[in-house]
Amino acid sequence: MAAGHGGVLIAGAGFAGLEAALALRSLTHGRVHVRLLAPANVFTYVPASVIEPFQDADWAQIPLTSLARRGGFTLVKGMLGVVEPQEAAIITTDGRRLGYDALIVAVGARRRTWLRGADVTFRGTEDVRAYRRLVDDVGRLAGGGAVVHLAIVVPSGPAWSLPAYELALLTARHLDVRGAGSGVRITVVTAEEQPLSIFGSAAGAAMTHQLATAGVRLRAGTVVRSRIGGELVLASGERIDADRVVTMAALSGPEVPGLPATPLGFLPVETDGRVPHTEGVLGAGDATDFPVKQGGVACQQAAIMLGHPVDPIPFEPRLRGQVWSGADTRFIRSDLAGGRDESDGVVSEHEPLWWPPGKVAGRHLTPALEGARGDLVDLAPEGPGRTP
Ligand SMILES: Cc1cc2nc3c(=O)[nH]c(=O)nc-3n(C[C@H](O)[C@H](O)[C@H](O)COP(=O)(O)OP(=O)(O)OC[C@H]3O[C@@H](n4cnc5c(N)ncnc54)[C@H](O)[C@@H]3O)c2cc1C
Repeated sequence: MAAGHGGVLIAGAGFAGLEAALALRSLTHGRVHVRLLAPANVFTYVPASVIEPFQDADWAQIPLTSLARRGGFTLVKGMLGVVEPQEAAIITTDGRRLGYDALIVAVGARRRTWLRGADVTFRGTEDVRAYRRLVDDVGRLAGGGAVVHLAIVVPSGPAWSLPAYELALLTARHLDVRGAGSGVRITVVTAEEQPLSIFGSAAGAAMTHQLATAGVRLRAGTVVRSRIGGELVLASGERIDADRVVTMAALSGPEVPGLPATPLGFLPVETDGRVPHTEGVLGAGDATDFPVKQGGVACQQAAIMLGHPVDPIPFEPRLRGQVWSGADTRFIRSDLAGGRDESDGVVSEHEPLWWPPGKVAGRHLTPALEGARGDLVDLAPEGPGRTP
């Protein structure tokens, strides 16, 4: 990618956009001008939002200026509105025109509410307060002698399921520690055939066992249609008790005007990240039509896209997941393109399966985040291991 009129423009400062910006710096030794278009001033480490209802995670917000200084890229405040590939330019939502030699679209997925009557749709940081209130409410009712059924629901279609299991485990532990656990029946209702099915059968079996040990019930392969009063109505017609209902968001694509989109709005990309028939435009992360939505995969897409621009290597993602339960931290790994053993998944209850052992492993982003967190006063690097 040679710098011409505008260099590389990256839209979106999430995992994919930041990994791309940092990788470019390292690969081109700063010779390419990189601009990162972002609506906010901070990078939010979304996976930390599952522990935030129970404890502070100040370390989860990193100033973008700190990352830009480390990565040698320029921040531009704003949002991608329209792409004009023929003009090699974008228009921001506030009407500015920005040219590029290459455009990387990394604006993430849209997080949709989908179940009418759900008490909380947990999309991340913005729903932490609501979830905290719900848990307090459930704890109060159970403390007063009531039996309360809490359902945590994973929809069918594109969605993040790992946080559903973490919320269930963290909530069970939180209520147990406060003596309210025996009155609360937590059930994870998931459309997945088994928990964490993208990670393979070993991860599924381990999670099933972990849930049972924590007293959390599981309904796998179960699609929820609606909520009526204190019940969930399943696709099978069966009804199950649910006094409080929390859902994971359903994901759809960003539908960027000027670019192609799948029926669900995702940006179609080749395995090397290129948007077909669209000169100079690439995509990475949850915004794309790659079926697995994950921070680590977003980083791998960004790195592969840039690592071999002339002779692309195949995109064979390795899934890495860290499960926080409040009692311990587990590591799960699976190679989507690996042999049977690897695609069945590997689970470690204590020893990290990668290093450094963050929740999202990004080759360039992980060390940059560590460095940027070092700039913050209230550093809490061991956050996930503590009892909520
Ligand atoms: C509660 C929760 C827990 C999770 N836990 C894990 C986990 O443990 N491990 C894991 O790997 N994944 C986890 N995920 C999934 C992970 O967060 C996503 O897969 C990841 O954030 C995708 O990265 P991304 O860069 O593609 O998109 P995002 O992280 O969504 O970043 C996109 C960025 O683009 C910005 N943006 C949006 N529109 C525009 C626009 N028009 N112009 C410019 N910028 C725009 C957004 O503000 C955002 O900053 C979790 C998700 C949630 C919600």
